[in-house]
Amino acid sequence: AMQWLGIILNMTLVTVLILMFSYDTQHMEKKLIDYNEKIRKMASVDPLTGLKNRRSMLEAMESFIKNGEIEKQQFSIAIGDIDFFKKVNDTYGHDVGDEVLIAVAGHLQQYMNDKGLVSRWGGEEFLLLFWGMNGDNVFVELEKIRSKLENIKVKHGEHVISVTMTFGMDEYDPSQPIEYTISSADKKLYIGKKTGRNKVV
Ligand code: GH3
Ligand code: MG
Ligand code: MG
Repeated sequence: AMQWLGIILNMTLVTVLILMFSYDTQHMEKKLIDYNEKIRKMASVDPLTGLKNRRSMLEAMESFIKNGEIEKQQFSIAIGDIDFFKKVNDTYGHDVGDEVLIAVAGHLQQYMNDKGLVSRWGGEEFLLLFWGMNGDNVFVELEKIRSKLENIKVKHGEHVISVTMTFGMDEYDPSQPIEYTISSADKKLYIGKKTGRNKVV
């Protein structure tokens, strides 16, 4: 009888250990999956504005071009750059500059909600993608965005800060690599800067 009791106790102990171990493994696995998701998100989101970062925007564009339905392969892009942003930093400080960036990003995000994607392309530059719109339609949209942005008021103490933005845009040309459209939009942005700012080219 003592022998049987020994065997039963041993088996119980082994079972308990197996259960504990498998719970632990599942728990660890879930933790790893959560961490992975967290890291993936951190790598694709700009921490200041919460917008897509440059890398994830490029990935998104590449993926539409390769795998997207045909509507997603027809798009236009625009690069917008805040005018005289250095002056905002120099006048009110870097933190206020950050607040302005967050405000601008929020408005772009809200406006683009059902029209396409927005990303923080660089310091005070944003790349916008418009689904299924030709250049003429996008020009109209960007004019609306531009005039909305110039009316944003960021309050800081007794100061009220306003900024304007210059945009360069182009239609995606499926016969060329995406970089071609990006550089074309960039050149137009540069022309906009040279010819008075606060405009869409
Ligand atoms: P332009 O109209 O020609 O675009 O003039 P600009 O002053 O906007 O352009 P410039 O390239 O001379 O300056 C951009 C400034 O943006 C300089 C840089 O310190 C600032 N900047 C870039 N990233 C950030 C950021 O994350 N936060 C803040 N506060 N400023 C930033
Ligand atoms: Mg710039
Ligand atoms: Mg600028």
